[in-house]
Amino acid sequence: MRYDVAVIGGGPSGAVASRILAEAGLGTVLLERNLDNVKPCGGAIPLGLIEEFGLPSELVEKKLSHMRARSPKGRVIGMHMPNGYVGMVRRERFDSYLRQEASNAGSDVLEGLMSSIERKGERFVIHTLGDKLPPIEADYIIGADGANSKTADELRFPPNELKVIAMQQRFRYTPAIEKFSDIVEIWFDGEVSPDFYGWIFPKADHLAIGTGTEDKKHNIRNLQRRFIEKIGIIERPYLDEAAKIPMKPRRSFTGERAILVGDAAGLVTPANGEGIFFAMRSGKLAAQAMINHIRQGAPLDVYEKGFRKLYAPIFFGLEVLQSVYYRNDRLRESFVAICADDDVQQITFDSYLYKKMVPAPWSVQMKIFSKNIYHLIKGS
Ligand SMILES: Cc1cc2nc3c(=O)[nH]c(=O)nc-3n(C[C@H](O)[C@H](O)[C@H](O)COP(=O)(O)OP(=O)(O)OC[C@H]3O[C@@H](n4cnc5c(N)ncnc54)[C@H](O)[C@@H]3O)c2cc1C
Repeated sequence: MRYDVAVIGGGPSGAVASRILAEAGLGTVLLERNLDNVKPCGGAIPLGLIEEFGLPSELVEKKLSHMRARSPKGRVIGMHMPNGYVGMVRRERFDSYLRQEASNAGSDVLEGLMSSIERKGERFVIHTLGDKLPPIEADYIIGADGANSKTADELRFPPNELKVIAMQQRFRYTPAIEKFSDIVEIWFDGEVSPDFYGWIFPKADHLAIGTGTEDKKHNIRNLQRRFIEKIGIIERPYLDEAAKIPMKPRRSFTGERAILVGDAAGLVTPANGEGIFFAMRSGKLAAQAMINHIRQGAPLDVYEKGFRKLYAPIFFGLEVLQSVYYRNDRLRESFVAICADDDVQQITFDSYLYKKMVPAPWSVQMKIFSKNIYHLIKGS
């Protein structure tokens, strides 16, 4: 089997990349280890992503414009997005829809676990576990195989540096938990997560409840158990799921004839752990760069430079926010207090929905700056 480009990993980043490559007429294969894979994920996506990729409304099972942030002392701040919403998707349906789009565009979609990659002159030869598939030959590779990317290891990319472990449980609605069915709830509480946050995301027929923490520092199962107790849920979950989240871009994610996208490249924002948007956006930018490289000889690293130019300020801002406010419960208390401010809410939602840093007027910036200083002094 010979292709122009092999995309390894059929999550959102890989599926988008292979669709765009195939649409451009390149011979493309999308290799996914398990086409029935259910990626552990909250499935919260911003309106901007839904619009950009024309996602059909049946895929977005809830559109939520109300949120609550809860502090360690139980202070609850209501937040409202007047001009948008968080969409809730279910990854098993979402990923297979995106893969189907890739297949409709002409990409081969194959099931097999990539086990090794060999370089043969100018080509790559990809092997699958147990030789389930005949060797796949390709001129270029896009590694889209998630946080523990084997592609990155095989092609000797620098490591994914910081990994958070996140766990989520799904609960079918009962009359007792129906009250959570129309609102996103975020818990900033050291007992639920000492360095991240806990979430309650409502889906069409279940609640997804989860928490995250820096890997190997705390026991994620204990944190999750405590979270469920604190919410007061006595129902039993019907699914437990957990996975790592890489929250720092790799030092480099463009190589010779190869590119990493999504979690494989470490493209999940700190503080909120948002990765689906960046997976699909990086898949799109990577595919466009590869098409220009193959057709016009443009350098491949246009992709990485472009991605960093667009999103480095967001990654930096959220990293600072996490390292300042997620340190202890007093600071978390202050953080939730700041979220009560209408201007803070507007700036947060504007930048979340469309991933654009929207500069606020000077008077608002000064007000938010002074509030931050006041709360930081109070919290320390
Ligand atoms: C518990 C949890 C909750 C989260 N909640 C949210 C959220 O609410 N919103 C949000 O935006 N982000 C969330 N994220 C992050 C989000 O899930 C990821 O950032 C996103 O899935 C990245 O997409 P991807 O395509 O890059 O990688 P993945 O979705 O991880 O896809 C990688 C694919 O590669 C396949 N694969 C792996 N190895 C191989 C191999 N060797 N050969 C072939 N195939 C292989 C896998 O089966 C998988 O399908 C959450 C993450 C976790 C763990």
